[in-house]
Amino acid sequence: MKALVLEEYSRLVYKDVPDPKVAPDEVLIEVRACGICGSDVHGMDGSTGRRRPPVIMGHEASGVIAEVGGDVLGFGAGERVAFDSTVYCGRCYFCRRGQVNLCDSRSVLGVSCDEYRMDGAFAEYVVVPERVVCRLPEEVSFEHAAMVEPLSVAVHSVERMPRSLSDTAVVVGTGMIGLLMIQALRAAGCGTIIGVDLEPSRLELAGKVGADVCLKADECDVAEVVGGHTEGRGADVAFDAVGLASTAETAVRCLRKGGAVALVGNLSPEARLPLQVVVAREISLYGSCASRGEFGICLDMIARGAIRLDELISATAPLSEGAAWFERLYQREPRGAMERGERDGRRWVRLEWTGGDCDGGEQGAGSVYGPGAGAGRGGPRDHEPESGAAGGIEARDRGNGPAGAGAGAGCWRLREHSADGRGGAWGVREDRRAGE
Ligand SMILES: [Zn+2]
Ligand SMILES: [Zn+2]
Repeated sequence: MKALVLEEYSRLVYKDVPDPKVAPDEVLIEVRACGICGSDVHGMDGSTGRRRPPVIMGHEASGVIAEVGGDVLGFGAGERVAFDSTVYCGRCYFCRRGQVNLCDSRSVLGVSCDEYRMDGAFAEYVVVPERVVCRLPEEVSFEHAAMVEPLSVAVHSVERMPRSLSDTAVVVGTGMIGLLMIQALRAAGCGTIIGVDLEPSRLELAGKVGADVCLKADECDVAEVVGGHTEGRGADVAFDAVGLASTAETAVRCLRKGGAVALVGNLSPEARLPLQVVVAREISLYGSCASRGEFGICLDMIARGAIRLDELISATAPLSEGAAWFERLYQREPRGAMERGERDGRRWVRLEWTGGDCDGGEQGAGSVYGPGAGAGRGGPRDHEPESGAAGGIEARDRGNGPAGAGAGAGCWRLREHSADGRGGAWGVREDRRAGE
């Protein structure tokens, strides 16, 4: 079969490889769509230690079952499916409790590290155990089904949180995962949803997919603005989809007393905590890793149109062009040069514009926070947190936002229904396009 192989660090080759063999408990899937994850783009240079060549990357995929192993009972050839990237053992203490994302011998498709190597879905075929396979509703396209995996990461984090109808929620980092969180929070009945980022084009997209208020973190005091939307209390729940000291702190500081924060991104392995705030205000911290069992919910929400995915797909292309697209994303070329590619009906890659990771629980949204912000491509995450550059792959036209025009404005409102008159006090701009 043809596959896009990471032959050595930063070198992808589209070539013939032996067809994968199907074990008795496995399913052979003919891949129809596979997303490029941020963890693939910044993992391919060796900086994360989780893409050791040779390996076929790709863990956000969908396709049609071509063959099933002898012990497979639940699926048959010809069925349209997606699959979880987390392969769990099913036998350990945690798997038996249903916490398969915490499995003692968890491995991730398309990842190659010290402990294991598991080829992924940038290929004509991929094999996965039956237990991670999920049937697709008719209404869900292969392209959308390939986004179930990152969506499940977002949905899991929302499911982890204590929440009530009409809660005010803050999402720090509006990369892929953050944008999906916003939509999941909307579907979960949240009231005011506030997106926080540094990149104007991402904030604009956050507004399009459901954020009521979008804040540019370097131009306003996020906690103060959130307070203004909550009678001074602070938000009920907050999500850090980035995982840097500054973003975790922002998420914690904008909460009301007794509020809860979900820590999902972890671009930096460590972050300082405003301990006194957490203790004195009784803040609850929730780590959230990958997903467990949310695939069905996600597919249902996509089928019902509760989650908008088209806006999050920036281009499609045949797998044979995959190496060039990876290179482009790695170099963070502006999307101005990109067009939606022709499909050959079978093999293509999706090019997302954020660095939302979902490999091994290392989610990170694509925004750039901290020192070095905005400079160059996403830097190494696991080993050099001090580099500060987030792992975002940036494929959007960066000249698209109101950045320059917005200097000093602080933040801007994207939806009229959040206009309550209070915003003006913090310099909210009514017309985010002014001066573009
Ligand atoms: Zn297990
Ligand atoms: Zn991923």
